[in-house]
Amino acid sequence: MSKQITLLLLLLAVFIPGVAQNEMSTILARISKEVFDETSDAQVTKGILAYKSNMNGDGSWPDIRYDDRSATLWLPAAHLDRIRLFAAGYCNPRSIYAGDETLFRAISNGLQYWCQIRPKSNNWWHNDINTPQHLGQILAMLQFGKKQLPPALQDSVLKIMESARSPSAFTGANKLDIAIHYICRAAVLQDAQLMQTAVDEAFQPISFTTKEGLQNDYSYLQHKEQLQISSYGLVFLIGSYRVAAWLAGTRYAIPKDKHALLDHYFFNTFARTLRGSGIDYNVEGRGISRTNALDKTKIVDNNDVAGLFSHILAVSPEQAGALAAIKARLLQQEPPSYQVTPGHTHFWRGDYTLHLRPGYSFNVRTVSRRTIRTESGNGENMLGTVLPDGSVNLVRRGNEYLNIMPAWEWDKIPGVTARDYDTAVVMKTDWGIYGSTDFTGGVTDSLYGATAYTLHYDSVTAKKSWFFFDDEVVCLGAGICSNAPESITTTINQAWAKGTIVVNENGNSRKLGQSLTAVRPRWVWHDSIAYFFPAPSPIVISNKEQSGNWSQINYSRKGTVSGKVFKLWFDHSKRPADATYAYVVVPGIDISKVPSYNPEQIRILSNTGDLQAVAHRQLKILQAVFYKPGRVTLNDLVVTAAQPCIIQVRNMSSGKTVIHVADPTQKLQTLEVSITSSTVKKDFTVPLPKGPYAGQSVSLAVE
Ligand code: CA
Repeated sequence: MSKQITLLLLLLAVFIPGVAQNEMSTILARISKEVFDETSDAQVTKGILAYKSNMNGDGSWPDIRYDDRSATLWLPAAHLDRIRLFAAGYCNPRSIYAGDETLFRAISNGLQYWCQIRPKSNNWWHNDINTPQHLGQILAMLQFGKKQLPPALQDSVLKIMESARSPSAFTGANKLDIAIHYICRAAVLQDAQLMQTAVDEAFQPISFTTKEGLQNDYSYLQHKEQLQISSYGLVFLIGSYRVAAWLAGTRYAIPKDKHALLDHYFFNTFARTLRGSGIDYNVEGRGISRTNALDKTKIVDNNDVAGLFSHILAVSPEQAGALAAIKARLLQQEPPSYQVTPGHTHFWRGDYTLHLRPGYSFNVRTVSRRTIRTESGNGENMLGTVLPDGSVNLVRRGNEYLNIMPAWEWDKIPGVTARDYDTAVVMKTDWGIYGSTDFTGGVTDSLYGATAYTLHYDSVTAKKSWFFFDDEVVCLGAGICSNAPESITTTINQAWAKGTIVVNENGNSRKLGQSLTAVRPRWVWHDSIAYFFPAPSPIVISNKEQSGNWSQINYSRKGTVSGKVFKLWFDHSKRPADATYAYVVVPGIDISKVPSYNPEQIRILSNTGDLQAVAHRQLKILQAVFYKPGRVTLNDLVVTAAQPCIIQVRNMSSGKTVIHVADPTQKLQTLEVSITSSTVKKDFTVPLPKGPYAGQSVSLAVE
């Protein structure tokens, strides 16, 4: 569209009331179409056959108790469900009931009765959200019916909607839900001012906040500072894109800056936690304990029914290609690697790291005094005591952990160092508690990075770090101490077993049988992933059937899950004092290639409670976690830190050195680092990001 025409349309929209009315009609038509798409012809027919003939003369139903005020299963809600089905039949031009006179009378009588009785629930959600949303959808559809409601009746319905509390009194998803019926009411009333208020409220949560919601690092926190990128973050995406799609192309369309935030959150955060048809178990919050929680094929619309993907397409048509790739991976029409670009993101607000390569995802969830441990609540996630303590989501296909949760040994979460109890520990406090340490964070240049987590939970302490490259992720642990009576273990993985497990010990490779085996391997290979051990350490490998019931982790769920599980862990034995571990994960390697893989390209420069540092020779990257001021040396390169921090040096031996630093404590004002080598000699005093950007990586210019 040319600029002149756009300007002309804008002028017309301002000066000719008809255009504004058309926009209101467009919005109402989209709201109606959504209901038509959600209700199948069969549902409408079934509903009308079941409920039209037994409606009382006054528009009530004999089976509904209208004085019920129950909080959860509130009986009068069924009345509006039925009227909504009737309206879908009457107003949908494709329905066989379209324009049916007797149906119109039933709708009219039903609404009349509701306005007389005005049923109320003891649960505000029904009064402020569910009832007015139903009434709004019914009124929206009736604008397109053969006959219109008598104006007095429509006014009465609008009055009930108006009596709900204002969206300005709420936050997040509740605010959006109330704004939704405000939008319906404004469109029916053709009230531009009310529409603007409703739209401003609806889009208000699409902005950075230091409270619950979208954070400055594009993570999503809810239930205080708790990582909820899927769970509540997905609810935010679904609701925001839904309303944005209703308003697309009108003067009420989502503002450009908010549109950019929303797209960034969907494409660069949420979608990056997916792999194949599955999602990282770390981003589901307590929903990890729900059946099929990790299977995300359900977020793709089938047969173009109104839903998240069609709404995103309506709002962001320029993203059609990227959206199609995500859809193809979710529906497994393309392999999990399809159009996956390499990237590394550390979320300094969420204490979470995403490391993606076309061949795999290796994500780490941690926690600090700034953030909340994964919650239990409503009887969900009852065994997730050590879930956030450096849990690793290592996936190639995307379904490695799908529905394994009831069968998991819950003190052996992948990546976590913890006490090895005989029986699973049940969560004692609902709705999450804060982490207990400050030094948790990550450095990144958006392609490579290193993450550190200081563990202090359940009388176990450890310094844990991860060093992320292309073909390898190096995992280090040091300072592992505990006076607890149980053995302390660090779990390398606990995933569904798939195919053979090969163990190499003393230069000899063998296939592992069913048994539990204690070994000191050089490497272990399973499901196209190799685990190398630079120093021989006592490892236990289990390849046995495990089973459990959903009810053990989620009190409202049932059903047993069982299957063979590959489980691999370090046994630090009882009362370890300053124990360590080190392993290198090589994802996506065929068993035939393992013997020729050269582990020498990884050099572990230090693995102590003061300094954990790794260099990658081929990539010319050095990464160091300084828990205390110190220095790390590699050949002629010396990196010195005057304060605790994480540093990455890239191209360390060439003239194009790039340095990134981050402050995991998020407390320092400045950071002093120096780097000397044959080509570089430089001291830096780095001003660090502040406020909601504290903890973010900073790039240093080395000329
Ligand atoms: Ca155990």
